[in-house]
Amino acid sequence: MKLNKLTIKQASELLDKGEITSLELTNACLARIKEIDNKIKACLTVCEKEALAEAEIADKRREKGEKGDLLGIPCLIKDNILTKGIRATAASKILENYVAPFDATVVKKLKEAGAVILGKTNLDEFAHGASTENSAFGPTHNPWDLKRVPGGSSGGSAAAVAADMCLFALGTDTGGSIRCPASFCGVVGLKPSYGRSSRFGLIAMTSSTDVPGPITKTAEDAAIVLSIISGLDKYDATTVETPRISRGEINKSIKGLKIGVPKEYFIEGMEKQVEEAVKAAIAKLKELGGEIIPVSLPHTKYAVPVYYIITPSEISSNLARFDGIKYGLSEKDAQNLAEIYFKSRGKGFGPEAKRRIMLGTYVLSAGYYDAYYLQAQKVRTRIIQEFDRVLSEVDILATPTSPDTAFKIGEKSNDPMQMYLEDIFVSGASLAGLPAISIPCGFIHPVRYEKKKEDNNKENKLRQHSMLNKREKLSNGVNGLPVGLQIIGRRFDEATIMRAAREFEQATEWHKKKPEL
Ligand code: GLN
Repeated sequence: MKLNKLTIKQASELLDKGEITSLELTNACLARIKEIDNKIKACLTVCEKEALAEAEIADKRREKGEKGDLLGIPCLIKDNILTKGIRATAASKILENYVAPFDATVVKKLKEAGAVILGKTNLDEFAHGASTENSAFGPTHNPWDLKRVPGGSSGGSAAAVAADMCLFALGTDTGGSIRCPASFCGVVGLKPSYGRSSRFGLIAMTSSTDVPGPITKTAEDAAIVLSIISGLDKYDATTVETPRISRGEINKSIKGLKIGVPKEYFIEGMEKQVEEAVKAAIAKLKELGGEIIPVSLPHTKYAVPVYYIITPSEISSNLARFDGIKYGLSEKDAQNLAEIYFKSRGKGFGPEAKRRIMLGTYVLSAGYYDAYYLQAQKVRTRIIQEFDRVLSEVDILATPTSPDTAFKIGEKSNDPMQMYLEDIFVSGASLAGLPAISIPCGFIHPVRYEKKKEDNNKENKLRQHSMLNKREKLSNGVNGLPVGLQIIGRRFDEATIMRAAREFEQATEWHKKKPEL
């Protein structure tokens, strides 16, 4: 039995029975990281020594009779979440030497529950992106096809879970960064409601939408992690105390559940096979007893433009603290402070962070504030009202997570607009603070759309046509890429989206498929 392949639920049952130890589990994950991560590049820091020590402590706690869903379970943490005494880079050169002086609240809670932290995962610099290509330390590769991106910005976390380097990982979602990589890597990603899990100790991106959450192998596991990391935190005034979600609630059937399908989430230009897979998944939900109701969210088309005004505004303010001096200055650098001061923001930030700082500064400046920032906030209110209205008529919404599947490394990185459009189905729930989950719901066979030179020979023309539909060969021989189904719920009603996700999972096999590595 490969212990690193287990789900949290399976592992904790075996730990409970005394059939395995946390040390064995942790060693299996560390071995997997060593075996495979030179290809995937999901981890920025691996803390082997600390992890083994934590595993021994967890085993001792169990020996004393303690139980707990995460006691002794190995995980990885996105590198924009602080873990005391360990480097936290946010995948930026400007924080290359920054060592976290305290634990983020979600990390503190994981540690108290006895989870074992194996290391820190790659991301787009400061979580700006949808492909993990914006990392200052190089891109992460998708385990389903190493030539492709894992999605972003929590790409390292999602790729690590898909490749069984850990039993679960933490990501952050500001405008899709948990859901997008989960869908591209064929795993489960849950963005909690804004305010359910604390932002204290996150390297802030967009404070009005940032939220940490789990990336797991099953929906059941996501519910386990969520129940541990959530709750009121005196260090984050936007958190609220919400009742714990019980297993009973999640295990209920979805018979009679009203499932809204917004027509604006099936659009021209999206990958046809993704549309088909998601529609088939919705049909499955119907078969399981859900009532499918067509709905409309006409402001959906404004979600990306509004998001890309509000987000850079908050980024330009949140990144102001990184002046090259305050965080993680090495001794050598400290001897030449003047030089650091004048050069470091220029050297330290990558192109996307700079682009967002400039955009944000512009839309917040006198004379433009009213036209852009204020206007965007007004439209954001419309988007929120629209979601609330529709979600008073239906219980949940079912949509695609992404308009496409994992694209090739380099395919969109030179075109920021193209990259921003990846967020088309995920940014709305972020702006509205709603809980949303992405679960595996199918696979597609990418086809190559090559433009061939005009050829008038009839026979060649026919051949050209078949060329256009040629299936892409994927680097690891697996003939398919994962598709994600997004389920959005009412604010703080994670229980209902988890219920639908779990029932779908029980009735399908998609989440069990593994990349061949
Ligand atoms: N693609 C989004 C962006 O680039 C996602 C960011 C996030 O959720 N951290 O802003």
